[in-house]
Amino acid sequence: MTRPSMPVPPVPALIVGGGPAGAAAAITLARAGVSAHLVDRHDGPHDGVCGGFLGWDALAILRDLGLDVAVLGARPIGRLRLLVGERAIELALPHQAAGLSRRVLDEALIALAGDAGAVLLRGRAVRAADPAGRSVRFDDGEELAGGTLFLATGKHELRGLARDLGGRKEVPSVGLRAVLPAHAARSRDLTGMIELHLFDRGYAGLLLQEDGTSNLCLSVARERMSDGVPALMAEIMAEAPRLADRLGGAIPAQWEAVAGVPYGWRAAETVPGIFRIGDQGAVIASLAGDGIAIALSSGVSAAQAWLGGGAEAAVDWQRQMHQRNRRPIGMAEALRHGAAGALGRGMMMQLLHWMPGLGAQAALLTRISAPRTGGRKSGARSAHDPG
Ligand SMILES: Cc1cc2nc3c(=O)[nH]c(=O)nc-3n(C[C@H](O)[C@H](O)[C@H](O)COP(=O)(O)OP(=O)(O)OC[C@H]3O[C@@H](n4cnc5c(N)ncnc54)[C@H](O)[C@@H]3O)c2cc1C
Repeated sequence: MTRPSMPVPPVPALIVGGGPAGAAAAITLARAGVSAHLVDRHDGPHDGVCGGFLGWDALAILRDLGLDVAVLGARPIGRLRLLVGERAIELALPHQAAGLSRRVLDEALIALAGDAGAVLLRGRAVRAADPAGRSVRFDDGEELAGGTLFLATGKHELRGLARDLGGRKEVPSVGLRAVLPAHAARSRDLTGMIELHLFDRGYAGLLLQEDGTSNLCLSVARERMSDGVPALMAEIMAEAPRLADRLGGAIPAQWEAVAGVPYGWRAAETVPGIFRIGDQGAVIASLAGDGIAIALSSGVSAAQAWLGGGAEAAVDWQRQMHQRNRRPIGMAEALRHGAAGALGRGMMMQLLHWMPGLGAQAALLTRISAPRTGGRKSGARSAHDPG
């Protein structure tokens, strides 16, 4: 005779999504002795649509969490090369940044969470959430409830807890990513550099990854995608000849894509017991390269708020995050809209030509101020330490 399955009692902290936001929350909670459950639909290393640029604020949080990205092979970045058509300007970044694939970064963070004692539920896709019961239902029908739910599904909406995007006038953008093979001239030109190629209603970012390949990531207005990626890339390469040179005139065959990126969106509120972290709480324009920092920072600070005030702390914490992200996200939106049209791009290049210091100012203003994690200190100073 088969026994009826017993309902699984709620776990104290249930984190859905094992990207930087979810992993940072899991590490912080587990190090404080909480039984944190971290769920991710992937069962092993994977990439995602992301430029892989780690700003100095992200590096500071990673270091506080005990992760030395230099050991993971991250490539130091000290300069930005901005390109519009045939024009190029090079600027020094105000602090040292780095380039690292998300495959390596996310895996290292999840490993830290596991080492700290978090329960890892990998290869488990959540199909839907029930906000009232703070529970989730997996693809296989199993259910799991949490005393508190940390929603960290990033770019992906979860049925039952989707972001409230009503009222947004702008059609969300599309993100694309391809890997370019190791290539001597490209490696030489990209060493120490992040390259941003601006074009009509979008941009492409290019940097070196730990294994010598280059990460090519694009963000583009969805209406430009109507004829598919090859047609879009052919148009972009005509607008951005220096990008076409980087690609050797050939369009990469394999792309990862994500649709519906609502840049500028911030969660204004939540209910007790549900923390919206990372891209589920705020989406900074990817051009600014600060999404990972916001994800890490929100994961750490949500966990700290929960440790201090429990499930009820979610409401105040979400309001504070909304406020705290106003300046960097607003600044990034101004840059994104400014760079979308030919006139704005031309003015931006001219201004930077006259006053290169403005580039560093813009980079500083699109950064969040990182919270202290209060977690384990790594001891070792990284080659990427900002100061
Ligand atoms: C084109 C583009 C380029 C970018 N470039 C940069 C950059 O260079 N630097 C930077 O700092 N930021 C960049 N960003 C932003 C950055 O990628 C995000 O802000 C960051 O990844 C958010 O982290 P997260 O943890 O919230 O979500 P994610 O990194 O998206 O992670 C979410 C996790 O949740 C899991 N998941 C999703 N749904 C489910 C489900 N139903 N069940 C179980 N698991 C689930 C996924 O597998 C994933 O592991 C870029 C964004 C775009 C669109």
